[in-house]
Amino acid sequence: MRDFVIRGATVVTPEYVREADVAIEDGVIRAIEPELPGAAEDIDAKGLFLFPGLIDVHVHFNEPGPHTEWEGVATGSRALAAGGGTLFFDMPLNSVPCTVTAREFDRKRAALEAASVTDFALWGGIVPGNLSQMAELADRGVIGFKAFLCHSGLEEFPRADDLTLWEGLREAARLGLPVAIHAENHELIQSLGRRMMREGRLGIRDFLLSRPVIAELEAIQRATFLAGEAGAKLHIIHVSSGRGVALAAEAKMRGVDVSIETCPHYLSFTDEDVERLGAIAKCAPPVRDSKERENLWRELIRGNVDVIASDHSPSSPERKTGNFWNAWGGIAGVQSTLAVLLEQGYHSRGLPLERIASLIAAEPASRFRIPDRGRLAPGASADLALVDVVATFTLKSGDLLQRHTMSPYVGRSFRGVVKQTIRRGETIFADGTIKVRNGGKFVRPLSK
Ligand SMILES: [Zn+2]
Repeated sequence: MRDFVIRGATVVTPEYVREADVAIEDGVIRAIEPELPGAAEDIDAKGLFLFPGLIDVHVHFNEPGPHTEWEGVATGSRALAAGGGTLFFDMPLNSVPCTVTAREFDRKRAALEAASVTDFALWGGIVPGNLSQMAELADRGVIGFKAFLCHSGLEEFPRADDLTLWEGLREAARLGLPVAIHAENHELIQSLGRRMMREGRLGIRDFLLSRPVIAELEAIQRATFLAGEAGAKLHIIHVSSGRGVALAAEAKMRGVDVSIETCPHYLSFTDEDVERLGAIAKCAPPVRDSKERENLWRELIRGNVDVIASDHSPSSPERKTGNFWNAWGGIAGVQSTLAVLLEQGYHSRGLPLERIASLIAAEPASRFRIPDRGRLAPGASADLALVDVVATFTLKSGDLLQRHTMSPYVGRSFRGVVKQTIRRGETIFADGTIKVRNGGKFVRPLSK
């Protein structure tokens, strides 16, 4: 690994945006100053913006197990790198068996180390009956624990009933690790879904109506209350509505230790897009109407969203056709997060670049206690994305490096082209192509 200086880039951090040179040595940022002396190599980055490498805290790369056919670590991590990402946290499903025991943790870690081009960390799961495994998963270095309040879509990962959730939150609090919650009220969406089935209402609109915002609000209310009582850290994933964000932010004001995540698809699409695009834009909670999308943007710009993650969850193309209700729910967007934030946020709504650096890197690293990542500062890991924030591109399926090149973002135009992605001082993506074979490293959070 050679030492080098990135010259003349506009450095983007949560605290400032300014032009500087950045010196890298042994994979670590050594200095950020104007006019640094020469190194073995220079990268001329005049006119480009240097972001901290994107940390995607929520992906489903599905390895090991049969769903590796839907997405794998080799392809998923390459797509992440092409979007400026240097680190991902893989969810405990849809790898099968799911990451709910130490044994499955070891299997997944080995699979990811063998194939990833970016660094990674692993979520463990909370399911009925695995409470006794949580301490061992914590010892292994999980980033936190994921629980579903409704059906997960996978029989192998049952939802956390109230007792499982309560005891899981208390155990996670004891272990000092956050709990990620899929917040939708099981009874409500189950009953509404059954009613739709009975009435033969099998359209896309019917599906959207079966998972209303109120189901998300009720679940957020319950999860934040229980987490507060348990003294647990809560991370509410993929909040789909501005009202959901506001409700969680109120809990935070009351002293509940909660972080709020939303995804680019809730910021990009509306119910009408889902009707037009079909199952490629199906996810849960579902994409909302344009009013709710703008509410979500308002909450984000107000500062109430902490983290943006892709919730990249593809399937095989066959699972995305036919009856919408039976199609796989999950959106493939791991490569597009930064482009969405630049186009829809920075260019269209005046979202400051500093906030983007916070949402994609600084907050993910600090919330999940990875002190040397997510920052552009001397001593931090040289995880970087060099971006032309004004260059335009229209996403073509051939540009996507994921396994199945389907994404609702195909055909959309963006301002914001990732020119180069650097992971621990090594260029892993540049000029539209991946530059390494693998070399992803397991990242462990600080112990409590
Ligand atoms: Zn997910």
